Amino acid sequence: MSLIVRDAKVIWHPYTQMKNPLPHIPIVRGEGVYLYDENGKKYIDAVSSWWVNIHGHAHPHIAAKVFEQLNTLEHVIFAGFTHEPAVQLAERLLPLLPGEQAKVFYTDNGSTAVEVALKMCLQYWGNIGKQTRKKIIAFKNAYHGDTFGAMSVSGRSIFTDPFNQLLFDVEFIELPNAQNIESLKSRINYLSNEVACFIFEPMVLGASGMLMYEAQYLDQLIETCQKHGILTIADEVMTGFGRTGKYFSCEALTAKPDIFCLSKGLTGGTMPLGVTTCNSKVFEAFLSDDKLKTLYHGHSFTANPVACAASLASLDILLKPETLKNIKRIETRHAAFAESIKGHVKLKDIRQRGTILVMEWETGDDTTYLSGLRDNLYLYFLERGIVLRPLGNVLYILPPYVISDEDLAYIYKTILKALEEI
Ligand SMILES: *Cc1c(COP(=O)(O)O)cnc(C)c1O
Repeated sequence: MSLIVRDAKVIWHPYTQMKNPLPHIPIVRGEGVYLYDENGKKYIDAVSSWWVNIHGHAHPHIAAKVFEQLNTLEHVIFAGFTHEPAVQLAERLLPLLPGEQAKVFYTDNGSTAVEVALKMCLQYWGNIGKQTRKKIIAFKNAYHGDTFGAMSVSGRSIFTDPFNQLLFDVEFIELPNAQNIESLKSRINYLSNEVACFIFEPMVLGASGMLMYEAQYLDQLIETCQKHGILTIADEVMTGFGRTGKYFSCEALTAKPDIFCLSKGLTGGTMPLGVTTCNSKVFEAFLSDDKLKTLYHGHSFTANPVACAASLASLDILLKPETLKNIKRIETRHAAFAESIKGHVKLKDIRQRGTILVMEWETGDDTTYLSGLRDNLYLYFLERGIVLRPLGNVLYILPPYVISDEDLAYIYKTILKALEEI
């Protein structure tokens, strides 16, 4: 029986209407930027397999380190015990982050990294005796994950619709710009006595359509929050590890967030791992003789040594000068292509941050995630050996940093053809 048929009998896929879904392509192998299906057809993974893969598939350095770790220590309970990969990863990660991040708290995906960040902030205020600080500020179009806390601080959308009544109340604000920045700051000032924290995706909002806004306005929002002691959470789950042209998107800020959430690129896209980091101000609010001030949170696979080893290996590659050169090269190629299609009648907007290039298609009235254009575009590129997975009418390229100029040129050429033919 073929894999597609066996799959259809037993699997429920994520984000997929399982009645007559588009066929699931059986992938048997990956190498560098390419995925190979069971018929030997080759695909360029131009979305980094849901934004996780930064160094290419089946990277030999990461594979070797994972193998070594599996043969040494595959897992150990992380309460009461510790191990070299977890400690070393924290030692190497903390100094890379903007500001003075003091501690790493491990989980196993982006959503749980966000849950921990929210729990740190809410309990922080309880621990210092100000239980009235319960409100959370978030962007109206944010996406922070699919667990209940992460969904609550995400924009209300078709993703959250069946659960909206059960999600906790959040103070949603618009993305900042020159026109509204003063009123957003006044809103924060007005609410300040009730607000525990402000969570944001720095400069690029991923799942809601790769929306972008300027660092200078985020700086002002963070500064306004910090004036009132409101904790700030940078969700760099998507933007981290070079994606926006810097190691972390927040490097473009002057202000320093109190907490960071990381996942996706953290292990180079090989193993599930999440990290929430905080500064000593947050951490110290949990130090007490009172056991009730403990952060009672953990997962079975917290700080899994194999995942930590993968992450250390991924950092080795990330910090090589040639990786940064690749990132800059992609940035330059993207910018030149963007310039060449500027003003195209079928495109409503073209925007770029680092290695992310976004083309928003003109659709008249139908701009929803469910628009028919989305499937047409998706299938058009698949047929031509390119994995691009538009968010509704928003087509974006978000490639592994090892993508060659030739493959980038092929993707651009195919986009030009799509602009003619679709
Ligand atoms: C993907 C994503 C998450 C959720 O991460 P998962 O590992 O999918 O749970 C959270 N925040 C942002 C900004 C993301 O892009």
